[in-house]
Parts: sequence; C-alpha cells; structure tokens
Amino acid sequence: MSHSPIDSKTAGQRNEKLILSLLRKHGSLTQTQLCRLVGIGSSTASTIVARLRDKGLVQESRGSSQRRGPKPSILSLNPKCSYVIGIEINPSYAVIGMFDFVGRLVGKRRMLLGPDHSPVYVIDLVRGGLEGFLREHHLNEDSVLGAGVTLSGSVSSGGEVYLSSPLGWRDVPLRRLLSEYFNFPIVIYSNRVRLLAEIAAAPELATRNILYLNVANGVGSTVYSEGRLVFGATGRYGEIGHNVIDPDGPLCGCGHRGCLEAHISGPALAGKIERDVRNGAQTLLAEGLGQQTTPEQLLANWPKAVDKGDAYAIALRDYAAGLISRCAADAINGYDPDVLILAGYVNLLFADVFAEAIGLRMKTAVYDSEMRQIEIRPAKAGEDALINGICAAVLQDTLDVRW
Ligand SMILES: [Zn+2]
Repeated sequence: MSHSPIDSKTAGQRNEKLILSLLRKHGSLTQTQLCRLVGIGSSTASTIVARLRDKGLVQESRGSSQRRGPKPSILSLNPKCSYVIGIEINPSYAVIGMFDFVGRLVGKRRMLLGPDHSPVYVIDLVRGGLEGFLREHHLNEDSVLGAGVTLSGSVSSGGEVYLSSPLGWRDVPLRRLLSEYFNFPIVIYSNRVRLLAEIAAAPELATRNILYLNVANGVGSTVYSEGRLVFGATGRYGEIGHNVIDPDGPLCGCGHRGCLEAHISGPALAGKIERDVRNGAQTLLAEGLGQQTTPEQLLANWPKAVDKGDAYAIALRDYAAGLISRCAADAINGYDPDVLILAGYVNLLFADVFAEAIGLRMKTAVYDSEMRQIEIRPAKAGEDALINGICAAVLQDTLDVRW
C-alpha cells in the first residue's frame, strides 16, 4: 500500500505534481514564474500552493526585489517532508542510501555480502539492514516516499528479477518479497538507472544519444535516446555482455559459454589472473590473491603493476582493450550514439587506453565511421552513482508529469 501524499486522480492533483516536478527541476520559483510555466491563473496557483504547503511539501521564503512594495515569495521543495531510499545489490556488497526530497544523500550504509548469494540470504540481509537503517535515522515508514532497489540484470516492470548473472539469480520476485516487510512502495530497477545519475551530474548529456558501456561485476550497455532510457520489449535492451565471442569459452552466469561478460567482467578477470598465476604466470597482481579481496580490490592494483612494467599486467590490459573495443564497435553499429561513456570499475582503470583502442577499432569495424563524431568519455558519477540514479528514478516516477 502506498503512503505517497501525492495523487494524480484529478486535474488539481495533476497540477500539484506538475508544480512539484517544476520545483524539483528549477530548485526555486516565484509564484508568477510558476503561473507562466504551468499555464494557470494566480488564484488557482495560490490555492494549489496553499495545499502543497499544508501537506508540508513546499516551503516559502521572501525573495529580494529592487522595486518598492512587498518582496516576492520564493517557493521551493521542503527537503525534509519525505525521503527516498535507494538500495544497490551487487555480488560483493549491498548499499542503502537515504535521500531527502530534493535528492540529496543524507545517510548511507554498506554491508558486505559474503559468499552466499542465495536470494533468501541476500533479501534477509537487505531487509534487516534497511530496518536497522530506518531506526538509526529515526525515520518513520510514513516519511518514506518510496524505495528503489537495483542490481545487475534484467527485471520485469512488476519487480521480478528475470536473470542476474553476477548474482546467479533467476525468476526472483524481489519486489513482492521485500514488500512483505515494508509499507512504502518499492520498485526494482535494473542498474540502467546509473545513467540517470550521470546525466544529473552532467546535464548537457540530456539532449544527446548516449551509449553507456558498463564493465564491472557484470558487462552491459544502456542506451539513452530522445530524452529517455530505452528498455526494449522485455527490459533486456543493450545486454551486449552476453554476446558470445567464443562458444568454447568460460561458462557465464547466464548459462551460456563464452559470453563477453565471462571474459572481461571484474570477476572474470580476477578468475583469469588466479588461473594464470596457478599455471606459472609471474606478476605483481599475484600479491592480492588468496586473501579476502573482492575482484574490484584485486584489480585496483592493476594500473600500478602496469606502471612498474609488469609484462603480464600490460598484456592483460591489452587483452581487455581488445575485447572492450570490439564490444564498443558492435554497440556503436547497433545503437548509433554520439556519446560513449565508459563506466564501471574495470573501464575506469584504463579509460584513456580503452578510449584510444575504441577509436582505432572504429576505423575498421564501424560502419561509415568517418562520418561519425562520437565523444568518448569516462563516467563521472562516482561510487554512489547507482543509489543516486535510483533516487532520481523514484522522484521522477513519483513526481514527473508528461505533457
Ligand atoms: Zn552470458
């Protein structure tokens, strides 16, 4: 059941949502500006604003004015009226973030997952973590506008995880299972919402055609075109990590053999280093093996090893560059972007080298490459990108009115 104070059943309530989404977009507005943007008269605006103020959703302050007479009233969202919870689940850890009504991160908790990735264990861990987190922040469930959960994989609009190869989950009704414990609305997002955080951090991206290539615990791409994320018929758009590049290659979490993800995801590369060292390879990267390290922690030493001239580390970087550039070329042919964002902890270790390899590969493997101008840039949205993206998605889903 929903505790959302915002309803869209009537035109007046629709205008309430519209005003809230405009305030979210602009930060603060005078009532005159609101009337112009919404296309309503000042008395209608006053009535709606009074209602929003009574609900505690907006706040007013007095602005400054050069002219004589009363100073204009400035309206903005009340950041403390409601909160959004964002939860990221990946094979190494889960993160819970709490955001205020204007989308600022106000609290975060990180929990290590351990080797047991079974849905029962992980959901129990997240449930217990979230209950403790709400208690710690003295947050009543009625104050939570909604929660979004994200993981690497494909999910249905009803919140069922069809398949998450990094977690090894198939057909897990995650939304239903979590909703049994909490009264606020819960939505499950694929980790495509990460791109919304990227756009929030660099608003000039909002009008571009973006291919977002993520290489981390999973490998996949997200496409943003004509102002929105593209999901496809079943939410599996852009799953290029499961292009089979070697039918006799390593087993992938999706059940197939030789997927790109089984070659260049963080866990795949960590597994390759471990196998190669066992077979006699000499490398500085061996130092991190055999300890309780995540693939991300193990690979963090890779650029340093390259800088020290470690031949194995250099060859491994070139191997990754070869596969990533091949994957990027295929995706450029398929999606026709004008911006390619290299994201995920593997991509970010050598973003410059991978960008150069992609530029070279485009000359021989991308259709009519001379006529394209594709900007290749590293992701900027940092380690909180996923929970930030969830917050943006929850606020957008709750507040945005399309007209
Ligand atoms: Zn696969």
